[in-house]
Amino acid sequence: MEQVDIRSLTLEQLKDEIARMGEKPFRAAQLYGWMHVKLVESYEEMTNLPAAFRERLYREYPLTVLKAVREQTSQIDGTKKFLFALPDGNLVESVWMKYKHGNSVCISSQVGCRMGCKFCASTLDGLERNLLPSEMLEQIYRIQKLTGERVSNVVVMGSGEPLDNYENLLVFLHMLTDEHGLHISQRNVTVSTCGIVPKMYELAKEKLQITLALSLHATTDEKRRALMPIANRYRIAELMEACGHYFKETGRRITFEYSLVGGVNDTPEDAGELAGLAGPLGSHVNLIPVNPIKERNFTQSDRRAIDRFKNNLEKNKINVTIRREMGRDIDGACGQLRRRHMEKDRRGEREE
Ligand code: SAH
Repeated sequence: MEQVDIRSLTLEQLKDEIARMGEKPFRAAQLYGWMHVKLVESYEEMTNLPAAFRERLYREYPLTVLKAVREQTSQIDGTKKFLFALPDGNLVESVWMKYKHGNSVCISSQVGCRMGCKFCASTLDGLERNLLPSEMLEQIYRIQKLTGERVSNVVVMGSGEPLDNYENLLVFLHMLTDEHGLHISQRNVTVSTCGIVPKMYELAKEKLQITLALSLHATTDEKRRALMPIANRYRIAELMEACGHYFKETGRRITFEYSLVGGVNDTPEDAGELAGLAGPLGSHVNLIPVNPIKERNFTQSDRRAIDRFKNNLEKNKINVTIRREMGRDIDGACGQLRRRHMEKDRRGEREE
């Protein structure tokens, strides 16, 4: 019989499982509260459950818990990067950022990634596997426990392509935002995608109030294909149609992410074209100065080019922000901490 990942069950599913076990129905809510509100790491901590029941759970339902194997704190802004070991030994990284309006956690949705974006460190070794709902939730749970501070915002912008792990993502979003768990408001959750068009249409049907962010990064199909292989599958025109549809269905405007790569996509002409795409959709543009990775020779646009780009968008009445570079001093770019750790492991070195 296939083992059930008990921490990935919604409350309804857990009720069914408890019934199958022949246990009292009210145990489901108790157990759910321990896992998703009190965020425990073991059955032992569930002190109001009978010992025999805990013993049975321990034997039959291994509890998914992530172990922090590294924690780095930025000296500049207090941002923390966590490297977590999954139950099977795979590693994922997550980031904790402190803002005036609350604490935000950026989580990974897959181990590795198969999208192949040219500037991204997460995809260099391809996809290892999808994360389970419990493994996405646990990144947030462990961070809330380790920092001792409430998490109010979640962004699915770490390693992996969330819409390439669609079913697990939906369960995760449901469990993260529903009233029986951490109950984070859907409006405080952002999911970032490289633009898998059919999944954007599927997601629209869910009518969630989350923010969907689209990694655009270029304004012509030709330029986009040079940066993102996914652009060979979907044209920008199709993407824009999907964005319009998503807005119509959910009432939520799509945010565009645009990583500025020096000499590649940062000219005034690019800015003009980007305004032409964002304007009709009322989309907010988030500019990300590219974070260079050593495996590729992309460079960041210089400060003047970045400011000029932003001004050009603003002249066209586009709402634009430059993403603050949080934690630059701690292996900033997605997937870099994990890679560095694994490289060291392969060389037999250990950092303490
Ligand atoms: N798969 C999702 C999440 C990726 S990470 C997506 O494609 O949206 C979140 C954002 O950071 C994406 O826009 C991604 O393209 C961008 N990104 C990844 N590596 C980067 C780097 N080295 N510098 C700047 N932006 C990067």
